[in-house]
Amino acid sequence: MANQKRDLYEILGISKNATQEEIKAAHRKLVKQYHPDLNKEPGAEEKFKEVQNAYDILSDEKKRQLYDQYGYAGIDPNAAGGFNGAGGFNGNFGDFGEAFGGFGDIFESFFGAGRRSNAERNPNRGPIRGEDEFTSMRISFMDSVRGVEVKVPLTYYKLCSHCNGTGAESAKDVETCPTCRGTGTIKTQTQSFFGTMISEKRCPTCNGTGKRIKTPCHECRGEGYIKVKEQYNLKIPQGINSQRQLKIAGKGKVGKNGGPCGDLYIEIIVEQSNDFKRDGNNVHIEFPITSTDAILGLRCEVPTIYGMTTIDIPSGIQNGDTIRIKNKGFKDVRSDVFGDEIVHIKVVVPSSLSSDEKQLYEQIRNVESRKKDKPNDKYNEKIKRAYKM
Ligand SMILES: [Zn+2]
Ligand SMILES: [Zn+2]
Repeated sequence: MANQKRDLYEILGISKNATQEEIKAAHRKLVKQYHPDLNKEPGAEEKFKEVQNAYDILSDEKKRQLYDQYGYAGIDPNAAGGFNGAGGFNGNFGDFGEAFGGFGDIFESFFGAGRRSNAERNPNRGPIRGEDEFTSMRISFMDSVRGVEVKVPLTYYKLCSHCNGTGAESAKDVETCPTCRGTGTIKTQTQSFFGTMISEKRCPTCNGTGKRIKTPCHECRGEGYIKVKEQYNLKIPQGINSQRQLKIAGKGKVGKNGGPCGDLYIEIIVEQSNDFKRDGNNVHIEFPITSTDAILGLRCEVPTIYGMTTIDIPSGIQNGDTIRIKNKGFKDVRSDVFGDEIVHIKVVVPSSLSSDEKQLYEQIRNVESRKKDKPNDKYNEKIKRAYKM
């Protein structure tokens, strides 16, 4: 879609914290301004689609939240800045999805309150987009680190390419319904005491579509859609975190009257690790060392989510001190930036000593006792002074 990168709030001319009422109002105004039936200026149609798309996302709290958090990448894996390798997501369905995008919604919001929409009066007329579907999937912690490809068994519908969703074998096989002359409704007049009453109801011959099909399409048996069962190759990007949704365009619920199918959203649930704690793209671990190593310092291996790496722990490190290892955190799903690993040092004091060790520690203490600034003595002096003990 053209100008896909423009900010959605900017397109609707509203602020980031606009209410749903404000979003609706802005949309209604712009739709009237750019609707292709009302505005014949070049570029109006593009603008109209853009407005439509922005509204589709921002009027859906769930999508809006994803957009706020991740930009276009949150709502469309194909968008610029999205993750690599997910390019196949839209398959062939992007085209008609784009062309008819949110058609039902246009009328719903255009005619809004007070007036019954065309779709309500004649629910079978005009293309109607299928609903979105939501599901979830659990992946292991290490799969979230590296990214993974999984086969997902999908059953969905696609527009029949033979009849392009009309359900007719050929264009000649679609004729205007003779009962309602294409209006989809029939009017009946009844005489009563008050005069002539005219009532309108859905045409029983065409079921409100206004069309009659002479020969149904042989591919889809007149349904307009074909059921597909597929082992879909879902690419889960490196660094994905829980609660993120992946969108598979056009694989939600089936559309109507040639309208596009909805989209399928898969929420990813990442199993947590007991050792590596994720915080944004950073990873925290608690790393035990002996008190001797804390005193003398140490070069040693520490685990990261990418395997072991060697670090230098400086002498005199305290319990709870942290050491940051650059770029050993999670990869950001939207960029090539990596988080860091933060190693929390846990000093372990030996609970039992061999006689050799005991002797050596005693020697150290003898040396230390000559110092004047032992912390326990200093502390006691301070308390005695303060409380006049
Ligand atoms: Zn067909
Ligand atoms: Zn009819």
